[in-house]
Amino acid sequence: MLRDTYIEVNLDRLADNVEQIRRRVGPDVAIAAVIKADAYGHGSVTCAKTIMEHGGDYLAVATLTEALELRNAYPDYPILIMGYTSNENLRNVVERGITQCIFTEEQAVLLDQLGGELGMKPKIHIKYDTGFHRLGFPDCEESIQTILRIAKLPNLDCEGIFSHFALANDEENHRQFQALETAVKKLEEAGCHFRYRHICDSIAAIDYPEFRLDMIRPGAILYGMKSFRKNDLDIHQVVRFVTRVAYVQDLKKGDGVSYNYKYKAPRDMRLATIPVGYADGYPRNMYEVGEVTIRGQRAKVVGVLCMDQCMVDVTDIPGVCSGDEVILYGDEAENAVTIAEAAVKCGTNKNELLCRFTRRTPKVYLKDGKPVKILNALLPDGQEKEGQTR
Ligand SMILES: *Cc1c(COP(=O)(O)O)cnc(C)c1O
Repeated sequence: MLRDTYIEVNLDRLADNVEQIRRRVGPDVAIAAVIKADAYGHGSVTCAKTIMEHGGDYLAVATLTEALELRNAYPDYPILIMGYTSNENLRNVVERGITQCIFTEEQAVLLDQLGGELGMKPKIHIKYDTGFHRLGFPDCEESIQTILRIAKLPNLDCEGIFSHFALANDEENHRQFQALETAVKKLEEAGCHFRYRHICDSIAAIDYPEFRLDMIRPGAILYGMKSFRKNDLDIHQVVRFVTRVAYVQDLKKGDGVSYNYKYKAPRDMRLATIPVGYADGYPRNMYEVGEVTIRGQRAKVVGVLCMDQCMVDVTDIPGVCSGDEVILYGDEAENAVTIAEAAVKCGTNKNELLCRFTRRTPKVYLKDGKPVKILNALLPDGQEKEGQTR
């Protein structure tokens, strides 16, 4: 490998997580796997294939460019853009056979015109706002009438209708669900039927089985992130973040470390420098709270994190030397900081930590326990070695 610092993505675990979700929801609920933000930092093109081969039915992303990246790799997988696409870009959506979220009549009419012009029947999922106030037709009678007009447009396939939980509390979740149910019932009574009605993200899909409808939109749980509260699911963190010690040195009590000497050695100590910084997605505010694992033991991050490097206290870990493996995020079983623990340490959520990984840090994909591909965005073909899988 050309760099000691890398993100390890375990495709066996990803596959197993999808299978766990499939078993939990049964065969009749479609799984729209949310792989926006580069599959929460895991690499969307590679993950898409594993997910679709192990129980995924649909791929869901936030933006047109995310959808195009997937469409270029996979001509046939169904792809839903859950967010807004500008009017000027709707032609791309139609031409590339991508399903678009729709929340204005204007855009529905535009898509219908494009469908007619291109001889295609673009698929849409109507977004219905049950309280989140992000995107969606407002919850009122007028919207029902608008959606009925949209459903009658000749060149559109009104495939789905969906909403999103704010997850404010149990009572409000039930109220949001009821609002969607009531709207769908009115639409159905007026002759408008949807193949996919959906509202559940990861948490709701596990905690509220009664809300699953025809489709769920799990993101976090694909990657083994557990945030649900009422129920459990046997899923596992897919990612590890590792590097190797670059340098070991001894400090005298009172020596400063890193910018502003903000940290001063409280005793004679041994310091290891590791080639990971905030430009690799390790949060700068891990200062004073971050811990890494070396030789099975925890070492504290000391001194202000730099862009490309940071220092850890290895005084109490005997024998540490240059080249030793350092685990930034890993499994509990190896005494490593999990994504969940790291999120608490630096005061953010698990998803944000995953999304922080940057293109400088290569990804190593494991399958059947062995590395099958090294993705390095800085190299001309993006690969360090010939890939055996996408
Ligand atoms: C991101 C997103 C999801 C997935 O959320 P998780 O909490 O990661 O499961 C589902 N639906 C929409 C509309 C989203 O934007």
